[in-house]
Amino acid sequence: MQTNFSLVQLAEPQMAASEKILRTCVHCGFCTATCPTYLLLGDELDSPRGRIYLIKDMLENGKPATEQVVRHVDRCLSCLSCMTTCPSGVHYMHLVDHARAYIEETYKRPLTDRLLRNILAKVLPNRGLFRLALIAAWFGKPLRPLLAKVPVVGSRLAAMVALAPSHAPLRQAQGVASPATKSVRRVIVMEGCAQPVLQPSINAAARRVLARAGIERIDVRGEGCCGALVHHMGREHDAHAYAKRNIDAWIAEMDGRGLEAILITASGCGTTVKDYGYMFRNDPAYAQKAARVSAVAKDISEFVTSLDLPAAQQRRALKVAYHSACSMQHGQQIRDEPKRMLRHAGYNVVDVPEGHICCGSAGVYNILQPEIAGRLRARKVANIERMKPDVIATGNIGCITQISGGTEIPIAHSIELVDWAQGGPVPPSLAHSGFAR
Ligand code: SF4
Ligand code: SF4
Repeated sequence: MQTNFSLVQLAEPQMAASEKILRTCVHCGFCTATCPTYLLLGDELDSPRGRIYLIKDMLENGKPATEQVVRHVDRCLSCLSCMTTCPSGVHYMHLVDHARAYIEETYKRPLTDRLLRNILAKVLPNRGLFRLALIAAWFGKPLRPLLAKVPVVGSRLAAMVALAPSHAPLRQAQGVASPATKSVRRVIVMEGCAQPVLQPSINAAARRVLARAGIERIDVRGEGCCGALVHHMGREHDAHAYAKRNIDAWIAEMDGRGLEAILITASGCGTTVKDYGYMFRNDPAYAQKAARVSAVAKDISEFVTSLDLPAAQQRRALKVAYHSACSMQHGQQIRDEPKRMLRHAGYNVVDVPEGHICCGSAGVYNILQPEIAGRLRARKVANIERMKPDVIATGNIGCITQISGGTEIPIAHSIELVDWAQGGPVPPSLAHSGFAR
């Protein structure tokens, strides 16, 4: 694609990076075939190619974002399916990240939109506030029809309340001791922000699987949200602050006792932590540290499949539909490892038709764009149910929350199922199913 940025514009590193990305696009349009919003809405401006044109025009002309650009960029899920499809290697993720930050700087959203986004940005990354919000949402569930009638933001408020779990999130993660043996293999299981509140059993299961394999797990003070939730809202400054806090905490551990890997059980977070190196590439104080962190960040499935795992204690002949989160398959290009891990644990794993299409979760997308997210969930659930599985497995808490709202089939994190097969407790979503016996 031909571009016309001025030399002054190109002196700005972020703009220079985006210009380079834009120039790799050859307008072929292959990406439109796998874009969920183009599939649903059929509008070129809701396809990757259309958005690339809009972003190019906005950046090149140095204009403040228009309502039209904001509408079509906001509708993008950042699912990155287009990156998997693109034959020219267009790094759409970095381009749309820049566009979102540019929109945040130059566009004044309506007041209600700003308020909702401010609340989400403050509450979601903070475990304490998020727990309180979920308890409030749980009590507010019966009021959902009333909330839906609130002018302008009603559908979003109703979507937010609908996503609250069916139980009040009062449980804390159970502690799991590291193995008594002196292991030379030392890892961190990243705690994150929303996941330990919504489903503390996921990281507890990961810790047990690691402990059985003789891996020493370290608790790190000071780490928290990876920054992905605010990053996807264009709040670059906040995202960088969260990322720096994690980098400082993890580098201290790497330089202290040493660390083989930072393991992540939410693929949405994994994509972001693996991108810290890019995020801070121009920051003299953090570039090297961020690159070191990204180099050892791994999805739990990548690490577990490299281990000599004990054989499954209980071979459960369950049919597991594996839903690959977009951040797993497109963001991190991890496809086989979670399925290998589940098969090793004795499950009969089947793929979901149209598996490359997003379920509509996408961070806070299902709150900010409830109509599109709802249609994508219905499509995903129909494809899953066609396979008639006993259970659904995935590697991202956002997908678990989104899909569980549309089906009665239990859904668990893949590592919970592996832990269960190794003799760990039954995953909470399966506790009341016939399979738990
Ligand atoms: S990230 Fe997903 S929704 Fe956005 S343009 Fe690419 S394929 Fe479409
Ligand atoms: S597939 Fe790649 S090169 Fe082709 S239009 Fe889409 S982004 Fe551009």
